[in-house]
Amino acid sequence: MSRYVFDFSDGNKDLKELLGGKGANLAEMTRMGLPVPPGFTITTDACREYLHTGALPAGLLREVEDHLRLIEARLGKRFGDLHDPLLLSVRSGGPFSMPGMMETILDLGLNDTTVRALAARTGDERFAWDSYRRLIQMFGRTVYGVPDESFEAAPGSDLDAAALRDLVAAHQKVFAAHTGRDFPQSPHEQLYAAITAVFQSWNADRAVLYRRQERIPHDLGTAVNVQAMVFGNRGPGSGSGVAFTRDPATGRRGAYGDYLPNAQGEDVVAGIRNTMALADLARIDPASHVKLLSIMEKLEQRFRDLCDIEFTIEDGELWMLQTRVGKRTPAAAFVIAAQLVDEGTITLDEALGRVTGDQLAHLMFPGFDLGAAPKPLTTGVAASPGAASGTIVFDSAAAAAATGPVILVRHETNPDDLPGMIAAEGILTSRGGKTSHAAVVARGMGRTCVCGADEAVVDPVAGTLTVGSTVLRAGDVISIDGTTGRVYAGAVPVQPSPVVRFFEGELTSLGNPLLAAVQRLITHAGHVARLGVHANADTAADARRARLFGAGGIGLCRTEHMFLGPRRELVEHLILADSDEEREAALAQLLPLQRDDFTDLLREMDGLPVTIRLLDPPLHEFLPSLEELTARVATERDRLLLAAVRRMHEQNPMLGLRGVRLGLVVPGLFAMQVRAVAEAAAARAATGGDPRPEIMVPLVGTVQELDVVRAEALEILSRVEGAPPIPIGTMIEVPRAALTAGDIAHAADFFSFGTNDLTQMTWGFSRDDVEGAFFGRYLDLGIFAVSPFESLDVTGVGELVRTAVERGRATRPGLPTGVCGEHGGDPASIRFFHDVGLDYVSCSPFRIPVARLEAGRAAVTRTADSSR
Ligand code: PEP
Ligand code: MG
Repeated sequence: MSRYVFDFSDGNKDLKELLGGKGANLAEMTRMGLPVPPGFTITTDACREYLHTGALPAGLLREVEDHLRLIEARLGKRFGDLHDPLLLSVRSGGPFSMPGMMETILDLGLNDTTVRALAARTGDERFAWDSYRRLIQMFGRTVYGVPDESFEAAPGSDLDAAALRDLVAAHQKVFAAHTGRDFPQSPHEQLYAAITAVFQSWNADRAVLYRRQERIPHDLGTAVNVQAMVFGNRGPGSGSGVAFTRDPATGRRGAYGDYLPNAQGEDVVAGIRNTMALADLARIDPASHVKLLSIMEKLEQRFRDLCDIEFTIEDGELWMLQTRVGKRTPAAAFVIAAQLVDEGTITLDEALGRVTGDQLAHLMFPGFDLGAAPKPLTTGVAASPGAASGTIVFDSAAAAAATGPVILVRHETNPDDLPGMIAAEGILTSRGGKTSHAAVVARGMGRTCVCGADEAVVDPVAGTLTVGSTVLRAGDVISIDGTTGRVYAGAVPVQPSPVVRFFEGELTSLGNPLLAAVQRLITHAGHVARLGVHANADTAADARRARLFGAGGIGLCRTEHMFLGPRRELVEHLILADSDEEREAALAQLLPLQRDDFTDLLREMDGLPVTIRLLDPPLHEFLPSLEELTARVATERDRLLLAAVRRMHEQNPMLGLRGVRLGLVVPGLFAMQVRAVAEAAAARAATGGDPRPEIMVPLVGTVQELDVVRAEALEILSRVEGAPPIPIGTMIEVPRAALTAGDIAHAADFFSFGTNDLTQMTWGFSRDDVEGAFFGRYLDLGIFAVSPFESLDVTGVGELVRTAVERGRATRPGLPTGVCGEHGGDPASIRFFHDVGLDYVSCSPFRIPVARLEAGRAAVTRTADSSR
């Protein structure tokens, strides 16, 4: 027969799945001989069975009664006794901490008779009636859903016993009015109902929401801890407190916490009365203080980490009610991990497991001072983290011309907006998701971006941004938070990140525990990582920053970004050319410009690989929009342009004439780029540099496409004297390419997974549309926990990656493989890329430190999040 109940003396801290975090740690403290009020834990198995069948498992209540007898025997008191009643608490506790999300009921066992016995036994009538009114309220709320507001407000400490007795009578009336029955007088009925209510609270709305946010599985269930009550509200010699073994905000060593005399734990947490600092306990109860500090030290040694605890002092006697490895800020996580290494408690490998890329990312964003933030105006997709305030501008030229900080507000952005995006502090769009143009480019530049804020109506002509009844105009100040997606009207103060200033060489880590810890852990990550970390960078400035941040090369240079600004006219010539001569003339003008671009990049990345992708996007992206041209046709040139735009218009440009298809259709385009790469490399080599360019062909679906491009490229390369050998590889971003990777590898010196397009095409999700349009609904429905454009869909898209690596390497053993889609900088995805055997990830310069840390973590830790 299953066993559903464990006495605290039977369990230990490693049984979290079965006993929940709280139960497992209560057991551990009991085993350590610490003062824990006796009790037992009902397992998560029992909860899961209850949730499955709707009934308490057979035999559970008999086990509960047996264990209750043990508590009674230990304390010499009986539950429901008419002279010296034992009171119990019932508390939830799942395998992962879900603070405040589920239920607790205290003082079970009190009724109209035992309350008098408790008063007589303790000689404290006030305390007994106060405990009873707490029980009726907690029980009413938890078991029967009686709203807290229905009960008369919680009294201050000035109510006397008679007043509290009256309050109990009033509470009982409220209870009866709401439930249609009297408050249960049987202590056992109270206990069973409380256990059932805690099981049910696993599926309370707020608990479900919390789990979704924290990515905690929904099928774990909660354990229930039943424990003898101890009382912090027994007078001035009693009290309750919470404490941390180190400061959870900064990581600073030393006990830290709050204490509230003559109060129960819930009063401390509720913040109704002002607490005193833990250090003040030394003054009012030095013996308990000393004992507490010594227990906290033992707990740190046992758990080898920062612990938080809840304790109660009853008449000068200290009791431990809870401990767990404490939650902490990202800064404290780094500082504490490094301290524990210094103290010889954990190894550097373990320390890497104690911090996460998400925490480092957090430390790298400038942040709003949230204490000063007003209510958000609206919320969009949190596309590129950071915080930015500035005046609203509606077009790129205005952004570029502005003198103060501006926020560029658009429906969506296109490559033409780049100068404005560079000039702006942040970008806000009403359309598009995490891989929209605005998002990708903003992340690349480390620019704050909120996109897909679809409640916002952007009218660039009228110069208004409207959300509901609020109308903002060009020149009004707006603030956007790319970490949360929130948009605020007005200015919100921003704080710069010291960690970024450190990576950029503006600050040293000397005397700064946080910066020293970050430096130490990221350096260690570099020693243990198998995955390399490259950058997605298109300009010398990006390349320089990427190197400062520790990039081992460029994994993706998107050459389309080099065709903007004044060069756009040359692209127009190319598109409008209707003879070979005209086209060749346009290409001849572009060649030296591209050569200079590549020379600059190769100089910045001297000695490191630079993967240059041949032109990818549809050509019409370089032309004015159809609407704009239709409105303005004034000259002959406009007329030609309009005809070209109409001719090239595609319903579905992402699936149209782009990538390798463009190279095969527009004669000379790829040839010009290949030649520019080779000539740039030759020029660098001639001046003593160590250029290592690689050429990458986008959007290949079949080896025949690659064969044609490769043959032409090899021919051109062979004609450029002085160029080093230049590998020619392909992106794998069309599902067919992944499936036929064995064939494609015959013509590819390397693979780089373009997981943005691979996700788009595998799911059939338009990457520019779906996130703003309906992903919110999908997330609410739990269809996925996170957008597949943000974190790789391992079971679907990941399978294609795995297949392609296997098939590619079967053809070409040792085939170098990397990833350059946005997932290359995503912590959870990096672990997968490590596991599947890629050689490197490539991501925006700002995500490089995070990727370096995660690459190290992937090499030394077993699960995706060992620090939760
Ligand atoms: C990709 O598709 O993952 C990729 C890197 O290419 P782009 O985002 O430029 O389409
Ligand atoms: Mg792509």
